[in-house]
Amino acid sequence: MHKKPFLWIFLFLFLFNFNSSAPGQVAESSEEQLLNNLHQISSNEIFEYVKELASEKFAGRLTGTPGFDAAAHWVAGHFKDWGISPLGDNNTFFQNFPIPYTLVFRGCEVSLQIPYKEGVIKKQYHFDDEFIPGSTSGSGEVTAEVIYAGYGITAPELGYDDYKGIDVKGKIVLIEREVPVSPADDAARFKKWRPYSFHQYKLKNAVKHGAGGMLYNYGPIGNPNNAYDENFIYSHVGKVVVADIFTGTSKNHKDVVTKIKEKLKPNSFATGKIVTIKNVTEYHPEGMGANVLGMIEGRDPKLKDEVIMVGAHLDHLGVSPELMPGANDNASGVATLMGIAKALSAASIPLKRSVLFICFGAEEQAVIGSKYYLRHAKVPVRKTVCFFNLDGVGNGDKISAAAGKNFPELWRYAEQANEKYVHRILRPSYFANLARPRLDAARFLRAGIPSISFSAYGTQSFYHNTKDTIALITPEVMEDLAKILFQAIINIADRDSVNFRK
Ligand SMILES: [Zn+2]
Repeated sequence: MHKKPFLWIFLFLFLFNFNSSAPGQVAESSEEQLLNNLHQISSNEIFEYVKELASEKFAGRLTGTPGFDAAAHWVAGHFKDWGISPLGDNNTFFQNFPIPYTLVFRGCEVSLQIPYKEGVIKKQYHFDDEFIPGSTSGSGEVTAEVIYAGYGITAPELGYDDYKGIDVKGKIVLIEREVPVSPADDAARFKKWRPYSFHQYKLKNAVKHGAGGMLYNYGPIGNPNNAYDENFIYSHVGKVVVADIFTGTSKNHKDVVTKIKEKLKPNSFATGKIVTIKNVTEYHPEGMGANVLGMIEGRDPKLKDEVIMVGAHLDHLGVSPELMPGANDNASGVATLMGIAKALSAASIPLKRSVLFICFGAEEQAVIGSKYYLRHAKVPVRKTVCFFNLDGVGNGDKISAAAGKNFPELWRYAEQANEKYVHRILRPSYFANLARPRLDAARFLRAGIPSISFSAYGTQSFYHNTKDTIALITPEVMEDLAKILFQAIINIADRDSVNFRK
């Protein structure tokens, strides 16, 4: 045996090699690495993010308030822990911008005065189900007759004026949302009506005509996307209040609206109903908001200048006057983005292109955060290869993708990832972006950036009220969407050349 020492060496080497390829010590193939990274994405973890963001601690995340700031710092803290680089102003994660905001306190009411014998009975409406105070209302009380004023539009060039022939001075107007023409029915016609579809326009037009208050037939939901006038008191109401106002007027609300739409002729009238709107609010014109930006820089010296963006709005409606948790809208989107960010920052596969994560402020306040970002972009817009937006991705068992059909080549990456690893129902749609912007992705599309906006659907959900809580969140759908985008981003980042612009 001693005669052949080389055999021992040979045997040793053989054993050593054998040992090194024993199970558990295999050098991972890149496919295995990828699967490992992919399965680090956890629905539990993402759900915990939603829970935290929707908690009392962040007070509904209304942009401008301390609750929003705390949420922004909380997200930035995670980015930092994961080694994601700050891409905001002055080497921070934050890009600050001015945003006025209004606080709404308890003590708000909408009530109807019903004449009874010599006096009146006051019918108080129920908060959240029957009314929600106007999120940018002035503070104070108005008691006056309600004048039905259709869509609240004065458009001489369209030969249309809801205020013609009625006197609303000091009165309360009851107004419909949107315009009598829908973009789906007639896109070309809608374009002419589009400027009148904005809430801000309707409020200002009511003020201009001397109205003292407004019942806005809108849900009722909360919505801080409106103008502020300190002397103008308004509330969002739903069908119960509207039906009471129409009772005894010999008109049926549904018929009136249908007729306006059909003939494009106003049908305004005094209802004879006396209503009180009382709101307790505080306006903050000095408000400052922020977008939160973090970047994973690409490793390829040339391709790293090209950036894949992932965004979700961080803000919601605040406490108005009860906590609006916004678990689905849009704690779910931020949580899913965080799931992707954590997995990508831990991924063992180096990305060639860069990935920029952005959590927008003030989406709920006229989609201002994304507008501000695009005007002060941290990477050139022409170098932004695509944008994935996550909005309302936490209630559902299926996933929809607005503008997925606009960008088939980009869409393929999401579709392939889904087919390979996830198998969710994934439904792309065509997004014409005709109406007023209601998504951050709409702003990115206007700026020419190929953008797809994801939402979940298929289970019960509540929108812009106190019931959008974690109780209805479906964590698995967020995990699946994070996995789809994780995989799609890796594949896009690695391609030698991509151009999704048409
Ligand atoms: Zn919203």
